Amino acid sequence: MPKLNQIPILFIFALFLVLTVGINMKAQLVHLVWMKDSQTKLEKELIAKFGESQSAHIQKGLKQVADFWRAEDGDASAFEDFVLTNFAGDQATLDVMFDRFENLLEQLNGHMNEIGLAFRQQSELELGPIYPFDETFAAYSPDAHITDDFFKNKLAFIVLLNFPLTTLNERLANGDQWSRRQWAEVRLGQRFSKRIPAEVNQAVAEAASITDQYISEYNTYMHHLIDIKGNRLFPPKMRLLSHWNLRDELKADYNDKEHGIAKQKMIQQVMERIVTQTIPEVVVNNPNVDWNPFTNEVKQAVVKDFDTLSKSNIKITNAPEPDTRYAILLKAFLASKKVDPYSPTAPTLIARKFDEEREIPEASVKAMLESVLSSSLVPKIAKIIEERLGRSLEPYDIWYNGFRVKGKYSEAQLDEIVKKRYPTADAYKADMPNMLMKLGFSKERAEYLADNILVDPARGSGHAAGAGMRSAKAHLRTRVGKDGMDYKGFNIAVHEMGHNVEQTLSLNDIDHYFLNGVPNVAFTEAIAFVFQAHDLDLLGLSTSDPQSDVLKTLNDFWMTYEIAGVSLVDMGIWHWMYDHPSATPAELKAAMLQIAKDVWNTYYAPVFKKKDVVLLAIYSHIIHSFLYIPDYAIGYLISHQIEEQVKKSGSVGVEVERMVKAGSIAPDLWMKNATGSPVGSEALLNATERAWKEYKK
Ligand SMILES: [Zn+2]
Repeated sequence: MPKLNQIPILFIFALFLVLTVGINMKAQLVHLVWMKDSQTKLEKELIAKFGESQSAHIQKGLKQVADFWRAEDGDASAFEDFVLTNFAGDQATLDVMFDRFENLLEQLNGHMNEIGLAFRQQSELELGPIYPFDETFAAYSPDAHITDDFFKNKLAFIVLLNFPLTTLNERLANGDQWSRRQWAEVRLGQRFSKRIPAEVNQAVAEAASITDQYISEYNTYMHHLIDIKGNRLFPPKMRLLSHWNLRDELKADYNDKEHGIAKQKMIQQVMERIVTQTIPEVVVNNPNVDWNPFTNEVKQAVVKDFDTLSKSNIKITNAPEPDTRYAILLKAFLASKKVDPYSPTAPTLIARKFDEEREIPEASVKAMLESVLSSSLVPKIAKIIEERLGRSLEPYDIWYNGFRVKGKYSEAQLDEIVKKRYPTADAYKADMPNMLMKLGFSKERAEYLADNILVDPARGSGHAAGAGMRSAKAHLRTRVGKDGMDYKGFNIAVHEMGHNVEQTLSLNDIDHYFLNGVPNVAFTEAIAFVFQAHDLDLLGLSTSDPQSDVLKTLNDFWMTYEIAGVSLVDMGIWHWMYDHPSATPAELKAAMLQIAKDVWNTYYAPVFKKKDVVLLAIYSHIIHSFLYIPDYAIGYLISHQIEEQVKKSGSVGVEVERMVKAGSIAPDLWMKNATGSPVGSEALLNATERAWKEYKK
C-alpha cells in the first residue's frame, strides 16, 4: 500500500502516462489537419503535369501516402515536396523505378540473409564449442528495423506513392488478368502495407513471450497420476508437455496391449481438466504431489522421481488453476488488436492471417474444412478404425495412429545401408546430382541444382536455409554422426533437399525477384514431403506395396479430419474475442468450451457416439500461436493436390520444376497453374475414396 502522501504523486504520474500515451496514439491515427487540402492541391498539379490518363494512379498514390504519413514525417510543405519530387508520372520512369527497387531490395534481403546465416553458423553447425557471445550473435537480427528505416528515409513512401496496395479481394478477383510485372508490383507494395509503431510490435512480442513461457512450462509428471485403485500407470521420470507430449504418449499407448486403454483414458481426463481449468493449480509442472485426475484428489507425493524443488513449499490443495490459460489467450488477443489501426488493408488479426499470410479467404478455408468434416467418408473410415481396434471409438481416437505400414527393412538395416553410403556430409553432397536424376531432373538440371545447394553438418536434426539473392546459395543442413549418416538423418535430409530445390528454382529461375518463393509455407512443405516420400527409391530399395499407399492416405485423411475440427475451434474463438473485446478470462473459457462442444457435436459426435467433448480445445497452439492451426489442415489438402499431380505426371523433377516457376502469386492461381484446380479438398477426398475401396482387412 502506498503511503498517503505518495498517492497524489502516483496519481499525477499515472494521469500523465494516460494523457501522453493517449495523445501519441491520436497523433498517429488521426489525419493531419492540412492533409486533405494538400492532397487536393497536389492532385490538380500532378494531373496538369502528367495528364488525365494518370489521374487514377495519382489519386491512389496520394491516398496511400496520406494513410501512412505522420506528423513526424514532415509538415504540409515537406509532404508536397516529397510527392512532387517522387511521383513517377510516365511509364518509362515507373519502369526504371520498379527495376531499381527490385534489384536493390534483392541485394538488401540477400545480404541480410547472408549476415544472419553467418551469425548463426556457430550455433547451428557442428563447428565446436558455442560461447555465450556466439548465442548473442545468433539472436541478433540485422533486418529488424528495415521497415522503420524505410519509412524514415521515405523509400517506403515512394513505393506507396507509385505502386498499388491491394486487398485479398482485389488479388483474387483480378489476379488472373494481371501480368507477371503487375503481380511483382503487388508484392512490392505489400512490403509496406503496414507501419506498426515500435511500442505496438513490442507489446505483441511481449504477449508472445508470455504465452510461450506459459505453454513451455506446462508439464504433467506422469508417474504421479493415480487411478481409482491407487495404481501408477506411467513410469517414473516421465514428464510430458501439454499438449504435444501428452498426445504423442496417447498415440504410443496404442501399442500397449495391457494398459494402453487405461493410460489413454487417463490422458484424456488430464487434457479435459486443462481445457476446463478444473486442473488443480498445484499439480501443474510439479512432481511433489500425486493426483487422481478422475476424483481430482491431490496429496503430497509418496514417491520421488525428480530432484526438482520447484513448488515444494506450496500449500497442497486441489484449488483449480484460476483460468490462467484463458487470461494468457486474452493477452495475446489484446496485443494483436493493437496492430489493427496500422494495417489498413487487413485490419484484424483474422484478416492478416487469412488475407495476407495465407491469401485464401476465411470463408473458403472454412468451406474446405467443413467438406472434410462432413464427408461421407468419415463414418466409413471410422468403421475401419473400429475394426482395427476391435472396439467402438473413444473420443481420444481422434488421434488414432494405427495406419502404419511395417517396412520391408528394419531401422537397423537401413542405418547400415545409409551409413555406408554417406559417411560424411560431403559424400551426400557428391551424390546429389545422382539422386536428383533419379527423381526425374535432367543431368544438366540436376548438376545445376546440386551446384547451388551447399551441404553443412548441422547440430540439430536438419533444416533448409534458402538464399535471399541469386548470387548466393541455398544450404542443406543435415545431421551426420561420427560413424556416418543414419536412416533418420537421411530421411530428413531428403525432405530438406526438397525445400532447397524449391528455394533454388523459385529464386534463380524466376522472372521477377519479388515473385520468388511459393505462395505460403504449406506449398514448400508439400514439395518437401513429395521428395521425402521417395527416400527409399533413392537408396535403390524398392517399396512398391500398394497397401502402404492406401494406409498412408487413410492416415492423412484421419489426421486432416482431426485438425480440421481444431481449426474451426481456433477460428471460432478469435471471432468471439473480436466480438467481445472486454471479456474476462472466465467468459472466454465459457465461450471456448461452448465452441469446442458445438464443433464436436456437429462433426464428431455422430461417429464417436458421445456428446459435449471438449478435447479439440487442448491444442497449445490455440493459446500461443495466434490463429496458426488452420495452416496444418490446409497443408494436408495442398500436399495431396501436389502429390496427385506428381503421380499423374510420373516425374517429381519435371513437375516440381514446372510448378515452382509460378512463384509467390495467390495460392489459388498457383494451384490452378500446377494442377488445373484451385486449392481445395477434392484431391484428398478422391484419394481417400480410392484408398477406402482398395483397403484390405
Ligand atoms: Zn519442411
